[in-house]
Amino acid sequence: MSSVISHAVVPVALSAWFPADALSPGVLTLGALCSMAPDLDVVGFFLGVRYADAMGHRGFTHSVAFAAGLGALLAAFWPEPGVDRPLAFLFLFLSTLSHPLVDALTDGGQGVALLWPFQNRRFFFPRRPIAVPPIGIRPFFTARGWYVFKSELRWIWLPSALLFGAGQGLRALL
Ligand SMILES: [Zn+2]
Repeated sequence: MSSVISHAVVPVALSAWFPADALSPGVLTLGALCSMAPDLDVVGFFLGVRYADAMGHRGFTHSVAFAAGLGALLAAFWPEPGVDRPLAFLFLFLSTLSHPLVDALTDGGQGVALLWPFQNRRFFFPRRPIAVPPIGIRPFFTARGWYVFKSELRWIWLPSALLFGAGQGLRALL
């Protein structure tokens, strides 16, 4: 997993590509949470689930199917009047899916089970520039944590800022 905060930067960037005001602050917040949600699977470590299992870390919660299911459930039941539910679904789906795609760019751990439940194969991108943080609560305050943060700035925050800026620019033109 990349740092949870870095994962949440991607939905912010994605939101700029949606029509202005189409996503409520509530749905935006939900998108940020969705981008972190797949790593809740780390509880499996404490329950003795093996990393490579479908229920293990980067397993089923890191799949397209999970992103679609979570996005559909939340978009359907989010109790806010006037929400554009198809757009909310698209945003929440992409926000959740961004998580395993970022993980697949990291240089450590196992790949992501993107095609679960059809395949339990773990995927990585051919190039993996993002340094993987150690799993734990305080990794940030170590030399490794700083190294990871710099790599996330370069490979997650910077592209996200560019994506955000491009989306905003397009909005201004339309
Ligand atoms: Zn993850």
